[in-house]
Amino acid sequence: MSFFERFSVEGRSALVTGGASGLGLAYVEVLAENGARVTLADIDIETAEREAGRLRERGFEVYAQSLDVADRDQTDLAFEEHVRRFDDLDIVFANAGIDPGAGFWNPAGWRNEEGQVDTLDPARWDRTIAINLTGTFNTVRMAAKYMKPRRRGSIVVTSSNAAIITEPVVGLPYMPAKAGVSHMVRQLALELAEFGIRVNTIAPGGFATNIGGGWLKDEAVRRSWDAKVPLGRIADPEQIKALALYLASEASSYMTGAQLVIDGGTSLGRID
Ligand code: NAD
Repeated sequence: MSFFERFSVEGRSALVTGGASGLGLAYVEVLAENGARVTLADIDIETAEREAGRLRERGFEVYAQSLDVADRDQTDLAFEEHVRRFDDLDIVFANAGIDPGAGFWNPAGWRNEEGQVDTLDPARWDRTIAINLTGTFNTVRMAAKYMKPRRRGSIVVTSSNAAIITEPVVGLPYMPAKAGVSHMVRQLALELAEFGIRVNTIAPGGFATNIGGGWLKDEAVRRSWDAKVPLGRIADPEQIKALALYLASEASSYMTGAQLVIDGGTSLGRID
């Protein structure tokens, strides 16, 4: 095997949650472009169908699946459908997530006035935990169920540098949800190692996606956020692809329980 063949996912089958947009779509693309057959699962089935269709037109085997990860029955069904279609499950990206707090950002003060402990709408807490934390549990639970008998697999969970840092903008529910996700990965990695299943975390910083209503795509927000990143810029989803392929493939075969931070240095400390 040549060195670069270690990065191949040729013939593998992968399921990506939240695959219709942003980082999830980047994962779907890099997996498909490198030979994997992919289920693109998302709550937004219209966009999921469109993106899967676009990738099939390029000759890749990508199929859309309607899924709300907060719903355990739907999650179970999505995995059943995947295995029925591809007869296998090698790679899972537990990626679906929301940040409803971002819409309440106050550009003047870099502070989320409605995300403080005493101002936060408890319904926002419940929904964020249901999708970001419980939804990740629902996903990795099924990944483990199908991978254990096969005694192999790679699970990659999208957490956030919000699992490590605190800051005034993103707000309360997102931070502990992601910290929970990151620690869940460490526990899972320990549990599943004897079954040949690796579990790792990607912890991104600012990426211009549709999260929080696409606020990071807004030019003014982006410029203002760029200045807070040690490397001087927030990123585009394209820049997560190499890391995703590394973790999905045999290139990372001795890595489990790791959290790989990709945030331009943001979590190292403040620069302003
Ligand atoms: P995005 O909004 O562009 O994409 C998220 C996708 O998840 C969308 O297609 C959406 O329809 C889907 N989704 C939302 N709720 C869902 C649910 N209940 N079930 C299934 N699918 C659902 O956002 P993104 O930035 O690509 O976010 C992907 C992941 O990356 C999230 O877990 C997010 O917390 C994490 N993250 C993003 C950033 C960033 O700056 N963009 C930083 C750190 C972590």
